Amino acid sequence: MLGLMQDWPLRIHRLIDHAARHHGGQAVVSRSVEGPFHRTDYRTIRARSLRLAQRLVREGVVPGDRVATLAWNTWRHIEAWYGITGAGGVYHTLNPRLFPDQIAWILNHAESRLMFLDLTFVGLAEKLFPSLPHVKRFILLTDAAHMPATALPGAVDYESWLDEADGDFDWVAGEENDAAGLCYTSGTTGEPKGVLYSHRSNVLHAMASTAADMFGLRSVDKVMPVVPMFHANGWCLPFSAALTGAGLVMPGPKLDGASIHEVITQEGVTFTAAVPTVWLSLLQHLEATGAGLGALQRVIIGGSACPRAITKAFADRGVKVMHAWGMTETSPIGTICGIKPAVADRDAEGMLDLQETQGFPPFTVDMRIVGDDGLEKPWDGETFGNLQVKGATVTKGYFKAPRDSLTDDGWFETGDVATIDANGYMRITDRTKDVIKSGGEWISSIELENLAVGHPDVAEAAVVAARHPKWDERPLLILVPKAGRVIEKQSVLDHIAPHVAKWWMPDDVVVVAEIPHTATGKILKTKLREQFAGHFGV
Ligand code: ADP
Repeated sequence: MLGLMQDWPLRIHRLIDHAARHHGGQAVVSRSVEGPFHRTDYRTIRARSLRLAQRLVREGVVPGDRVATLAWNTWRHIEAWYGITGAGGVYHTLNPRLFPDQIAWILNHAESRLMFLDLTFVGLAEKLFPSLPHVKRFILLTDAAHMPATALPGAVDYESWLDEADGDFDWVAGEENDAAGLCYTSGTTGEPKGVLYSHRSNVLHAMASTAADMFGLRSVDKVMPVVPMFHANGWCLPFSAALTGAGLVMPGPKLDGASIHEVITQEGVTFTAAVPTVWLSLLQHLEATGAGLGALQRVIIGGSACPRAITKAFADRGVKVMHAWGMTETSPIGTICGIKPAVADRDAEGMLDLQETQGFPPFTVDMRIVGDDGLEKPWDGETFGNLQVKGATVTKGYFKAPRDSLTDDGWFETGDVATIDANGYMRITDRTKDVIKSGGEWISSIELENLAVGHPDVAEAAVVAARHPKWDERPLLILVPKAGRVIEKQSVLDHIAPHVAKWWMPDDVVVVAEIPHTATGKILKTKLREQFAGHFGV
């Protein structure tokens, strides 16, 4: 017997329908690519997205078609997400920081038919175009006044193109399990892989990640996703904000510390999210200028482990850090470090310990750690295991892959190694391939890095395995000094020593001017490992 509740497929347009109707005047402020700040609201964004969907249908887009975006976080990119999915299409975000060849490979694999792109990327698109047989039209996210001369086929400015639609249109109907978004992992470990979100997974993700112990968003919040919409679904923040009616502040193309600070204080941002490197740059700006953080209350930090020093620097300024773990494959929120009753009465230091963990999952995700034998490991906070997840917002396989990527009993292998403690707090110790295996025992590179960046002279730290004649592998600590500081190697080692077992201590320290990063701002360990593999002379 079926229940007697209404049929209400969880389609993405419902998020903007709700925001426009119940929070219609709520502001969406963006730093535009052209320069000035731009102000709009949910009501206007919905009306324009509807015209965009109508215009795309006229352009020949049919359900399931992929439409690429190569764009910063602005109101137009948000309209593109709602317009593309509202036409039944699939928004396909591209990371401009990837190598051009990788972008072309991804576009050809996705067979995206149209591309929305910011002015910043016209040169890149012109270079790529000859190797993109599928892309028929390029829509530049600007107006007629800023339209450059370009050889891109069918190139048109977004505003003139949008003006050709009157908005007398209904969202294209479909099933909640239809594809809605496509985002490729960066491919630092092989070819990029396409994660294909559905309408349902995105809406459920927005709902689950917004819960009070997760993002905890409210309509009085002003949310700034610094994390780009092309990185792991923009951590779903544009959707989560619409669902709660929270205001949105979009930082556009300027993501350096000073520019981010300007937006936070000027627009009264209360909630923001990005990878640790962005916050390092903001904190350095604050240190240099003595500036404050305005109305900011909470910061989501994930994508790489958040060092204790960053959490503390925010806490000292009255801002709460929420450490999060996730992957493109998990929509992306897998866990967030909320506060359970068992830990609620910890003192400040105890809270900092807790915030080094990545926390616990929202309703839509389950997790476990298993050994190489596939058996589940205990939740004792000490035993390492391979982290596996399952749930409504977790991928089961990659776009165009011949088979699912799950274990026989339906879990997704994250490729991360973690511990889980008795309170259910998960802590990432490494990516499987970054674990240092010394004499058969595992050493966590992340824990050593976190300790090293707590030293006052250290800006950034990476620990990699180097080959060793006796122990197979030993940890090597690679450091970048803060501007104007000199690193005394022994002083950093002395800073780490009280916190880890003796056999975990790095065998050597190398100081470099710069550490290489991936397209999503993570330390490029593959490159460092190659470079320093023979450091101990083996
Ligand atoms: P990419 O590899 O393209 O950057 P993802 O953003 O999907 O793509 O990367 C997911 C990976 O990032 C996770 O598997 C994990 O290794 C790492 N990661 C994400 N958040 C954290 C965190 N808070 N602490 C440690 N590692 C993290």
